[in-house]
Amino acid sequence: MHNRQSLLAALTETEFDLLIIGGGATGAGIALDAASRGLKTALVEKQDYAAGTSSRSTKLIHGGLRYLKQLEFALVAEVGQERAIVHQLAPHLVEPEKMMLPFVKGGSFNKLTTSIALKVYDWLAGVKGDDRRVMLSRAKALKMEPSLNEDLLLGAGLYAEYRTDDARLTVELIKAAVAHGAVCLNYCRVNGLTYQDHTVNGAKMEDLLGPSSFEVRAKKVVNAAGPWVDEMRKMDGSLSGKRLHLTKGVHIVVARDRLPLNHAQYFDMPDGRMIFAIPRHRTTYIGTTDTDYSGPKENPRTTAQDVSYLLEGANRLFPRAGLKPEHIESSWAGLRPLIHEDGKSASELSRKDEIFISPSGLISIAGGKLTGYRKMAKKVTTLVAKALGKKDARSLTCVTRNIGLGGGGFVNAAAVKTYVKEIQAKVEAKGLPAWRAAYLVHNYGLQTDEILAKMESGADPERALILAETDFAFQREFATGPADVLIRRTGRLYFDHASAQKYLPEVTDYFTRMLQLSPGKASALAHEAEVALREASEFPSA
Ligand code: FAD
Repeated sequence: MHNRQSLLAALTETEFDLLIIGGGATGAGIALDAASRGLKTALVEKQDYAAGTSSRSTKLIHGGLRYLKQLEFALVAEVGQERAIVHQLAPHLVEPEKMMLPFVKGGSFNKLTTSIALKVYDWLAGVKGDDRRVMLSRAKALKMEPSLNEDLLLGAGLYAEYRTDDARLTVELIKAAVAHGAVCLNYCRVNGLTYQDHTVNGAKMEDLLGPSSFEVRAKKVVNAAGPWVDEMRKMDGSLSGKRLHLTKGVHIVVARDRLPLNHAQYFDMPDGRMIFAIPRHRTTYIGTTDTDYSGPKENPRTTAQDVSYLLEGANRLFPRAGLKPEHIESSWAGLRPLIHEDGKSASELSRKDEIFISPSGLISIAGGKLTGYRKMAKKVTTLVAKALGKKDARSLTCVTRNIGLGGGGFVNAAAVKTYVKEIQAKVEAKGLPAWRAAYLVHNYGLQTDEILAKMESGADPERALILAETDFAFQREFATGPADVLIRRTGRLYFDHASAQKYLPEVTDYFTRMLQLSPGKASALAHEAEVALREASEFPSA
């Protein structure tokens, strides 16, 4: 934020090799890949980084067990292998999480099919050692997870998944891209494309915090606009053939005390779909739905119907929790930018990515998963490098497998655990609860020490912590206001809703001071965050 003027100047003055439209995981991944190959790269995002789908997913880097049901073996193998790489790149941010798959009376899996499915899954995904699937008897499963419904449970499988924070992953990708020379700017919207001889050669921008309008010139333009991909194709006059099919997915968050799970669960719904319940620090989140969507793309809402669908499923498997709408602390709704296939329902659509190249040369990438961001980036960047006529090895070789994210520094998950213990002693000494150590390390990795060092001493350590995080988000992570901090830098709006609400005035004061905002501007920023906080816990009827 503080160097916005110099970023705007760089965007106007440079002719880039590549301009990327969209700062979600897909665009951010491409920016890192291209910049690390030495391509002159720019990325613009009309909202905050990750404010589209990339902060609204199930937050798993996963092998895609559900694709087995759709017999997409190659996809399972590809994403399974890829998740191991992404884990190595950021072991603190992509953490191993044992997932339990309980099979129940009348459910879609039984002991044999669960055992076979998980074995095939492990084999395709190249899962090794202790991470391989284990089958559990009914008694063992109940011992490990006492909240499960004794009347329904027949047994369970235990297999390996990875939990992440999608928005933090995206922000770390942007930070890494910038460190490799990319020029990236949030709150900067593409309003039109520019052409020379019918070939796209840049875009018309609007600085949404300025406001000012300007043009960016680039030899190649990539459209990584997620749910907005077709809007850009339309702008290009090339929206024909395959189109996006948007489906909405909702997650709800309850206190972990209400649904005290020891392991993440992947379980049957009465309609044959499967959903997750995933413990995360002081909360458990449940999702997702999958329904066709045609409303406003910036702000899909969690409806009363979404809530009752998810609660019904959760209460069936965890009856003792007795979950009610009033127990929901927060929620989020995201849009899957899937590719339409005639005659297929929301849940049946493929999650595979596809690249479209228009007659003007606009390269659009759609479909896909968070998990596959690196592979997609490799494909797109190689295509761009070849189209630019590059012949040198550097431009044609993807090196992102070796670029650690979030400061890197951990050799494996065990090293992360050791660091969490170290940080635990430090946070307790500062008067914070022990769980803050895992929260900080999983969000920030080795950058945690930098945040703790920013904490001022005082009577309220939680206040000192959130202000230290806010300063870090502003100085190092391009946050422009309280909503950016509370939603996409810290995840507090979802997983620590009460603290987001309590400290919103202090976080707003920070930005008012740092950006010398007028009272009107400051209250507009606070209002934006207040609305987001309220909407996360209010569920209108559809
Ligand atoms: P986005 O994150 O939406 O980014 C596109 C960006 O483009 C947006 O931020 C938008 O503001 C910007 N943009 C649009 N128009 C313009 C413009 N004119 N100018 C500038 N910028 C513009 N995947 C997994 O791997 N694991 C999961 O657990 C998982 N769970 C999911 C659960 C749900 C409910 C959903 C909806 C998806 C899930 N996915 C999951 C899929 C994954 O989240 C998406 O594939 C991924 O986040 C898409 O990223 P993206 O960058 O393509 O799109």
